[in-house]
Amino acid sequence: MMDATDIGIDDIRAAAERIAGHIRRTPVDLSEALSERMGVPVWLKLEHRQMTGAFKLRGATNAVLSLAEGKAPAGVSCASTGNHGRALAHAARAAGLSCIVCMSRLVPANKVEAIRRLGAEARIVGRSQDDAQEEVNRLVAEDGFADIPPFDHPKIIAGQGTIGLEMVEDVPDLDTVLIPLSGGGLVAGIAKAVKALKPSARIVGISMARGAAMHASLAAGRPIAVEELPTLADSLGGGIGLQNAHTFRIARELLDDVVLLSEEEIAAGIRHAYEVEREIVEGAAAVGIAALLAGKLKPTGPTIALLSGRNIAMDLHKRVLDGANGLDEDSGAALMETEGGAI
Ligand SMILES: *Cc1c(COP(=O)(O)O)cnc(C)c1O
Repeated sequence: MMDATDIGIDDIRAAAERIAGHIRRTPVDLSEALSERMGVPVWLKLEHRQMTGAFKLRGATNAVLSLAEGKAPAGVSCASTGNHGRALAHAARAAGLSCIVCMSRLVPANKVEAIRRLGAEARIVGRSQDDAQEEVNRLVAEDGFADIPPFDHPKIIAGQGTIGLEMVEDVPDLDTVLIPLSGGGLVAGIAKAVKALKPSARIVGISMARGAAMHASLAAGRPIAVEELPTLADSLGGGIGLQNAHTFRIARELLDDVVLLSEEEIAAGIRHAYEVEREIVEGAAAVGIAALLAGKLKPTGPTIALLSGRNIAMDLHKRVLDGANGLDEDSGAALMETEGGAI
């Protein structure tokens, strides 16, 4: 049953038209090494080269420009200091809207600075993510701001889905798509696009084993909370929202498989990306490569692994290249300084 808020291929095509000229159309590259190893062509979608360093600019730009087409709000806001916060700040500035990113006092200075450099106000409130979200809610209720969430929103999902259009265009015979999975905006959008154009394609979501909220929710049959643990794939941390309205339902309907990875496997993915493919990626973006290297899925035809972002602190990247896997104490401390962030 389609409901009024369902996202279709037309919404994704409209998003592509809306955001063209505001985002970078990213290339796919054939990985000679992974193709040889897997016995099928393996393509890397180089979305970590997106402006702001992650795909989230697509969804944020689609949401912001959609608002600007109607009665524009006083501004936009979110409580994310990670890749979504950066993307929203960038998209708001490009659209001439003001943007307030709310964050708690515990957020590291480098993240606060990154948001300010993108032209947004970094508003420090309280001591937790919940306090920051309360300030967003107040801005919406009292000051006429629009809350743009990181994944559970039709315009965000449609924006991320534009990656799927490009994948089918560039690799028309694709068989399997490997997508990093957290709140599920990325998986939901790409699955909607790819399955509409290529119904036989398989969509595989990949998360870290430490705190995989969507995987646990799919297993439980409803959105559930999981304990959040430090991980190399820090951009995949956080829950899917107990009141999840869209991404859980779409993931349940369209996701063919979910693969979970250890910290060591993710570290191996980052290393392979750098040493063999010559790409700097954050942990969340390395999971497709990592799943292939770990032998956790058997591709049956042309496969695309999505590299979703590159916002990893360079000292952590160096440690991973030197053999750290994110579980030992030293790299755990470095993790806290990463520039990515949960959402
Ligand atoms: C947000 C993010 C993801 C996960 O996207 P969801 O829509 O939350 O599933 C993956 N990789 C990177 C780099 C991200 O920033």
